[in-house]
Amino acid sequence: MVDATIAREQPLDTLADFPAIPSGWAYLDTAATSQKPQVVVDAITRAYDTTYATVHRGVYQRSADMTVAYEAARRRVAAFINAGSDAEIVFTRGATEGINLVAQCWAGVQLKAGDRIMLSMLEHHSNIVPWQMVAERVGAAIDVVPLTEDHRIDLDAMAAMLTPRHKLVALAHVSNVLGSVLDARRATELAHGVGAKILIDGCQAVPRIAVDVSEIGCDFYVFSAHKLYGPTGIGVLWGKPELLDAMPPYQGGGSMIDRVSFAQTTYAPAPGRFEAGTPHIVGALGLHAAIDYVEGLGLERIHAHETALVRATREALSGINSVRLLGPADSAGIVSFTIEGVHPHDIGTILDEGRVAIRAGHHCAQPLMEALGVPATARASFGVYNGPQDVDALVAGIARVTRIFG
Ligand code: PMP
Repeated sequence: MVDATIAREQPLDTLADFPAIPSGWAYLDTAATSQKPQVVVDAITRAYDTTYATVHRGVYQRSADMTVAYEAARRRVAAFINAGSDAEIVFTRGATEGINLVAQCWAGVQLKAGDRIMLSMLEHHSNIVPWQMVAERVGAAIDVVPLTEDHRIDLDAMAAMLTPRHKLVALAHVSNVLGSVLDARRATELAHGVGAKILIDGCQAVPRIAVDVSEIGCDFYVFSAHKLYGPTGIGVLWGKPELLDAMPPYQGGGSMIDRVSFAQTTYAPAPGRFEAGTPHIVGALGLHAAIDYVEGLGLERIHAHETALVRATREALSGINSVRLLGPADSAGIVSFTIEGVHPHDIGTILDEGRVAIRAGHHCAQPLMEALGVPATARASFGVYNGPQDVDALVAGIARVTRIFG
């Protein structure tokens, strides 16, 4: 059983904020997507209800009001990650689109044959495939930083591997499989040391640790709203203004232009030039509400809460012989494991019978699975709504799995 002091020491009790989570259901798949607090659902409903209109074009009051709300969301994001200005915030469909945008519009323009891109072994497919696509197109090569024994990106190895041919480094701030936290500032210093730019994939970091892009010093930072208690279909690309301003547009269409004629079209400055078409207006308002919610709880508190749950889970599981725990002991909010002789899908199915929802599979990180020597893992990931009772339910479910499989 989980030590009840966890609940006393880290009194984050938010279940009432999530009336859609049924009682007795242990939702442990927040790394895939988070459940939504009622304040976010309400903000979305309100936006589609009495205040709904398009942005940027309307001359009537409701559209002007919606434009103010949409741009306020951009300012809220800028403050959340301590960007220099809201013009540095590009709304995308999600982290995947943000990475593709940088791959096509920065790397696709700047890189040439013989240049190199540095990734790590633990990257999500969305931080691998876009770089492969651009590397193939321009004739660049990709290098892969290995992991340390305790499953962190090995920055000492990266320091030894980096050369002036490396033009771009792209790394996950927090691994979606292992929960390992990157020293993003050191990674940035290493990249900049050879003149490379660095993109940080912050999908799993923004819901779990306070992120300050100015302090990190990186060049690009991406994340998705739906893992941050916000809606699907919207995400953020932050970029240094001088880089964004020098990048060509990603897609053509309405809103991203300065002036259009059949002879010549000129483009709006960033971020508008990267937001062709009617944007995900309501998504931006939902993201605003989600950031207000998360910051209201406090990221330090959230981090302490999730760290305590991870610690309790790892302690309980390390007592079961057949369980192999992956990732470092101080992983952020995420615990991956395997059970000898049991496929992770079977673990997931049996746990689901006990109303415990985990993820089982390769987690869009097939190269990492190969490096770990497993076809798949079982992954429990925590959010603000989880508590010691969820750890207990998980551990009881795993005990049942080991009984069933002898
Ligand atoms: N990077 C990481 C580390 C992720 O966990 C995810 C989502 N699983 C992504 C990128 C892609 O995010 P999305 O599918 O929301 O674009």
